[in-house]
Amino acid sequence: MNPPLAECRTTVEYFVQCQQPDGTWEQCSSTAIDLDFATERLAARRRMQPEFEYRIARRTTTVVVEYAADNAGCAECGHPEDQHAEADEPVSVGQCRQCAADPQYEDDSWHDYEPREA
Ligand SMILES: [Zn+2]
Ligand SMILES: [Zn+2]
Repeated sequence: MNPPLAECRTTVEYFVQCQQPDGTWEQCSSTAIDLDFATERLAARRRMQPEFEYRIARRTTTVVVEYAADNAGCAECGHPEDQHAEADEPVSVGQCRQCAADPQYEDDSWHDYEPREA
C-alpha cells in the first residue's frame, strides 16, 4: 500500500582506457564528467605513449536510495502531510500530490491525509 520513497541519481563519467598486453582494457586516467576533458586526456596519452592503444570509456552509474516512510507520513500512502491538499468542501476528499504525480498510484491519490496510529 505504501509506495517506496526513493531518490534516484544518475552519474555519467568518462575516462581513458589503455589496452593491456593480454588484450583487456584498464582504466588509466581519473574520471571526468566532461567528455571534452577526457578527450584531451586521450590525446595527451597518445602523444606520451603512442605505442599503446587507448580509447574513451563511459560509465553510467545509477544510485537509488530508498527509505521507509516514517511515522510522520500518511497512513494511506506514506507521503508527508504537506503533500496532501485539503478538501474543498465537506463532501469532497483531498488529494495527495505525490500519489497524483505517479501513474501507478494516481487512482489512489484521492484521499485526505490520515495520521498514523502512534
Ligand atoms: Zn496520503
Ligand atoms: Zn501519497
